[in-house]
Amino acid sequence: MTTFPTTYAEILNRLDTIDPVSYGRSRNFVDGAVSYLSPYVSRGVFSTKQVSEYMLARGYPASRIQKFIQELCWRDYWQQVWIHKGNQIDEDLQHPQPRAERDGIPVAIVTATTGIEAIDEQIRSFYQTGYLHNHVRMYTAALACNIGRAHWYQPARWMYYHLLDADWASNALSWQWVAGSNSRKTYLANQENISKYCHSNQQESYLNKPYSELEHMPIPLELQETVLPDLNTSLPDSHPLAIDPNLPTLLYNFYNMDPKWRGDVSANRVLILEPSVFERYPISNNSLQFLMDLGNNIPDLQTFVGEFSELHAQLGSSAVYFKEHPLNKYIGHEDPRDWMYPVNRYYPSFFSYWKACQKSVS
Ligand SMILES: Cc1cc2nc3c(=O)[nH]c(=O)nc-3n(C[C@H](O)[C@H](O)[C@H](O)COP(=O)(O)OP(=O)(O)OC[C@H]3O[C@@H](n4cnc5c(N)ncnc54)[C@H](O)[C@@H]3O)c2cc1C
Repeated sequence: MTTFPTTYAEILNRLDTIDPVSYGRSRNFVDGAVSYLSPYVSRGVFSTKQVSEYMLARGYPASRIQKFIQELCWRDYWQQVWIHKGNQIDEDLQHPQPRAERDGIPVAIVTATTGIEAIDEQIRSFYQTGYLHNHVRMYTAALACNIGRAHWYQPARWMYYHLLDADWASNALSWQWVAGSNSRKTYLANQENISKYCHSNQQESYLNKPYSELEHMPIPLELQETVLPDLNTSLPDSHPLAIDPNLPTLLYNFYNMDPKWRGDVSANRVLILEPSVFERYPISNNSLQFLMDLGNNIPDLQTFVGEFSELHAQLGSSAVYFKEHPLNKYIGHEDPRDWMYPVNRYYPSFFSYWKACQKSVS
C-alpha cells in the first residue's frame, strides 16, 4: 500500500526513486512508474520547477523525460487558470456540462460498490492512503458524470476531501475536463480499457459496451441513487501565539508548507488555518493530519486557527510575508511562485499553454 512519509529527508529520498523515463511508457497503468509526488507538490513542500530541475540534474536529457515534465506542467497550467479565472472554476468554465442531469454523487462511488471491481478496489484503498492513480481518478469522474450523469461539483468536492494531494485547481478543472465543461468532449472508459490498465479480469459489466453505445446508455441501476456528501473539516484548537514583533512573520498554509522558504531568516513562523477556506474546501482528518505532520519540518512553527484579520491584529508591528496563491487574501509582502516557465496568461487549452511555455525558452 502506498504511504506518504512526512519528514523532509524521506521526501527528498522519494525524488531519487523516481524513474522519469519508464514513467512515459507505464504511467497509465495502476502499477506504472508514477512518482507519488503530488501530495508534496500540492502542499507546497517543493515546486514543480524544483522537481523538473532535480530530474534534469540527475542527468536525464529533457527529450527522454518530456512526458514527466509535461505532466508537471499540467499542474502549473491549472494553477494559471485558477489565478486568471478565480472562483469561476467552481462553475462550468467553458460551457454547461453536457450530460449533467442531477446534483450529488452516486452513492455507489462513495461506498465503493459501483460493480466495476477495479474501481471499487481502488476507492477502498483511496480511503486508507489518500491517493488515487490519475487514470482511476479519470475513470471515477467519468462514471460519476458521464455514465451517472451527475454534475461534477459535488463528486469533485468528495474526492478533494480525501486526497492528500488535494489541489482545487487540479481537482475542479480535471473533473471539468472529464465531464466536458472545460474540454471539447466528454471522457469515457469502457470495461476493456479499465481492465487493461488496472490488470482486472472483469469482463462483464454495464461498461462492457462499444463507446458509441456508452455515450447514450441510460443511467445503470448501480449508479442511480445519489447523495450530497457530508464533508466537514475538524480544525485543531487554536493556542495563543508567541510573536516577536521585531521579527517578520512568515505565513504557511494548506498550499505552502515549504521548509526551505526564507529558511535563513529569523522569523515568527505561523501556519494559518482559516475556517472560511476549509468551509469552502473541506478536507478529511487524514488530509489535515498529513498537513500538520509536514509542519514538523518547519522550525518553531506555530498554528493559528482563525481568519487572517484576527491574526493580523495579533502581529503588532511584525511584517507579514507569504507566498503567492489564488486563495491568499493576506496583507503583506507576497513572494512570487516558482513557475516552470515564465508564462502568465490564461490559455483555454493545455496544449496552447504548453506551446507558449516551449516558445518562452527557445
Ligand atoms: C478527476 C481528477 C482529479 C484530480 N485531482 C487532483 C488534485 O486534487 N490534486 C492533484 O495534485 N492532482 C489532481 N489530479 C491530477 C493527477 O491525477 C495527480 O496530480 C496525479 O495522479 C498525482 O499522482 P503522482 O504524483 O503519482 O503523479 P505523476 O503521474 O507521477 O505526475 C508527476 C507530477 O505531475 C503533476 N501531474 C501529473 N498529472 C497531472 C494532472 N493531470 N494535472 C495536474 N498535475 C498533474 C503532479 O504534480 C504530479 O505529482 C486530478 C486528476 C483527475 C483526473
